Amino acid sequence: MSADVELDRVTVRFGQFTAVKEASLKIAGGEFFSFLGPSGCGKTTILRTVSGFLDPSEGAVRIAGKDMIGIGANKRPTALIFQNLALFPLMTVAENITYGLRVRGMSKADRRKRADELLHLIALPGQGDKLVSELSGGQKQRVAIARALAVEPQVLLLDEPLSALDLKLRQHMRNELRAIQQRVGITFIYITHDQGEALTMSDRIAVMNNGVIEQVGDGKAVYDEPRTSFVASFVGENNPFAGRVAKADGTGAVVETPFGLLRGRNPNGVKEGDKAILFVRPEALRVGEGSKDATVTSTVLNVAFEGNASHIFLKGADKKDITLTVGRLERVEIPEQGSTASVTYNP
Ligand code: ATP
Repeated sequence: MSADVELDRVTVRFGQFTAVKEASLKIAGGEFFSFLGPSGCGKTTILRTVSGFLDPSEGAVRIAGKDMIGIGANKRPTALIFQNLALFPLMTVAENITYGLRVRGMSKADRRKRADELLHLIALPGQGDKLVSELSGGQKQRVAIARALAVEPQVLLLDEPLSALDLKLRQHMRNELRAIQQRVGITFIYITHDQGEALTMSDRIAVMNNGVIEQVGDGKAVYDEPRTSFVASFVGENNPFAGRVAKADGTGAVVETPFGLLRGRNPNGVKEGDKAILFVRPEALRVGEGSKDATVTSTVLNVAFEGNASHIFLKGADKKDITLTVGRLERVEIPEQGSTASVTYNP
């Protein structure tokens, strides 16, 4: 069974310092929901108010419609997975998975049955008798998930659980976690500073900065229609071009930039004459195509080859460099460092 989770103007203060400011949102039952933001933005603090290790200074946390204030962590329908997993290395996999069930007095036979079910779920069938110390990082990760799921929580809370794994395994575990979440169908609340993780796994994402939730939406919305400069620059790369709005309507705006007049989306409803920043994705810029209306010529500062793409850094106006990305399969000649290249905006 899954439960919805509601934060209602949650504020958390530590002395004079406000770690979370009036966070309000509703997470639906069965949703994979992520909090994304840089270190120190308040993600873990929010998670602690949901898990019950911390009560908010103001506001309310409700799970399945029930006010949780004053209800301890062990009385809530939640389970928590930390970054360091906290498995017992000298116990077997099955003993680790069923630890919480033993504490609750479940019989040995029932525990064995439940462990077998969970080992199937995490794709480690028949591995129950191995010692945890014999497992790989990714396998340990899956055992920690199984242990948290064993007690049948309605909400699983995950605090950067993949950050100790190497890149390849981390990417593999993203798919794995998402698949497990869809199989069990409970609510997952996931904390990360890694935008790739948040974008690939989540139904919706809350982007946080300095204790404030700046935007809530699905991956496409926060990537394509960021509402604040912070979201635009934190979620993926972006080139900020400051300028003045020449024309605006409900769907878009035309901004006078160093590239000339460029059209972009207008999520904040800017009006003609306003100052604005147009954010341009590196993949929306082209080198050497030389169109008349949206081209600047600039010096190539650096070229970084990254396998499937190359990132080109050019000297921009107002001391901000321009970054553009050229995919491997694009038939584009990559300019050399120190050369001059023309850059075109492709709306
Ligand atoms: P990270 O990704 O580094 O874990 P985070 O976004 O999860 O960061 P939090 O752990 O929620 O950040 O911390 C938010 C802010 O609150 C930080 O500035 C932190 O120093 C502060 N903070 C957290 N817990 C306490 C505490 N018990 N006492 C005082 N300050 C705290």
